Amino acid sequence: MAKFFETIVIGSGPAGYTASIYLGRADVQHLLIASSLNPGGALMNTPLIENFPGFPQGISGPKLMGEMQIQAEKFGTEIIYENAQKITQITGNNKFTVETADQKFETSSLILAMGGTYKKLKAVGENKYAGKGVSYCATCDGFFFKNKIVAVIGGGDTALEEALFLAEFAAKVYIVHRRDQLRASEILQDRVKQEPKISYVLNALVKEIVGNENAVTTLNLQAKPNTEIIGASNHLTVDGVFVAIGHVPNSSVVQNLVELDNQGYIKLFKGQRTSNPNIYAAGDITDPTYRQAITAAASGCKAAKDLINARFARSY
Ligand code: NAP
Repeated sequence: MAKFFETIVIGSGPAGYTASIYLGRADVQHLLIASSLNPGGALMNTPLIENFPGFPQGISGPKLMGEMQIQAEKFGTEIIYENAQKITQITGNNKFTVETADQKFETSSLILAMGGTYKKLKAVGENKYAGKGVSYCATCDGFFFKNKIVAVIGGGDTALEEALFLAEFAAKVYIVHRRDQLRASEILQDRVKQEPKISYVLNALVKEIVGNENAVTTLNLQAKPNTEIIGASNHLTVDGVFVAIGHVPNSSVVQNLVELDNQGYIKLFKGQRTSNPNIYAAGDITDPTYRQAITAAASGCKAAKDLINARFARSY
């Protein structure tokens, strides 16, 4: 028989843990499904978070997520490390079933906080060399590129952070960006300027990732239409390629339960309510804009408060 929880939170990033802390403190019996592949979410790959208030010296992503987990467990959160593979609304009542590979649960309400997954470049050779020189996580794979030449694709905060991290190991780091203007924050751009190992390749679209049987050797680039590539020719000799072009929301498992926008983000209606009256959502799965640890945590708080208020039929 499926074990019943009053609420199930899915996802263990700042949104999921914050929701759990609030549910726990309000005595709402709940389960947190934390994912088997990447418990702790995207911040587990972030070596130093400098903009989460309360940590003037910065804090590592794994340390912050570890502390959030301890705090959630302190208030009674039960956690399992599995993936929610199927979520179904039971016909005729307001309950849901949530199935992982090995277990089945029932619940009256859900908080969806599954975050996002690395966006693929969709360049020729990307899949072929994934794990053989193509990576989506510098903190996971950077060490393998000691004294090598690497390219980071993207012009946002993640790309520049990855490049700065890689510069600690690699001999040379190129930031390859499709425009000549960066999206990344000034503070990161300033840090990149101070790092002699990093240089920019701008107006450059990645056409193909080329290599031999086991390793990447070259990036074939083409200029953005009506521009010229700045900082390199059409061929860049590299040993590794780090793709840092953003994320796509992990919403496919709930696409039949809640309304999504055209990019797959869960649509919100009044606070953190979704189109389904007993489902709330929080964090990056709802947020194409801010995508910060602090905004994810805040939305997790709001989702839990919205749920608790609905439970006690309170309104603002
Ligand atoms: P992002 O800000 O969406 O930037 C993605 C970058 O990849 C953009 O420069 C974009 O180019 C490029 N890009 C997107 N699709 C592409 C494609 N198909 N081919 C080539 N280039 C492509 O994503 P992010 O850097 O992961 O950051 C996400 C959010 O997290 C942001 O709000 C960011 O501020 C935040 N973040 C903050 C920190 C921090 O505060 N320390 C660290 C990491 C991330 P265009 O510019 O041309 O669109």
